[in-house]
Amino acid sequence: MFCPKCKGEYREGFYKCADCDVYLVGELPQASTRESDDEFVEVFSTYNQGEIAFIKSVLDGEGITYFFQGEGTTMLIAAGAYARLLVKADEAKTAREILRDLGFL
Ligand SMILES: [Zn+2]
Repeated sequence: MFCPKCKGEYREGFYKCADCDVYLVGELPQASTRESDDEFVEVFSTYNQGEIAFIKSVLDGEGITYFFQGEGTTMLIAAGAYARLLVKADEAKTAREILRDLGFL
């Protein structure tokens, strides 16, 4: 048995960590070894709502994992702030190629 908080190991029969006062678990959640896959990198930024909508439809079609940071803050964009397009690190190259083909880069 393990404490999910301090990662302390307990013998069978214990159910709460004496230090943390939290319930023990049978297995610690595996530390993600794929963490680097979940990194997002910026590949493009725009303040143009039309471009954002267009790029979204293209990336959706290509199955790229992405999000726009700052999107939804329409007021900010109106004020000249950029929405940044962030793409999963391992798909950034593909996304850049797509954007280049479209003439955005
Ligand atoms: Zn603990």
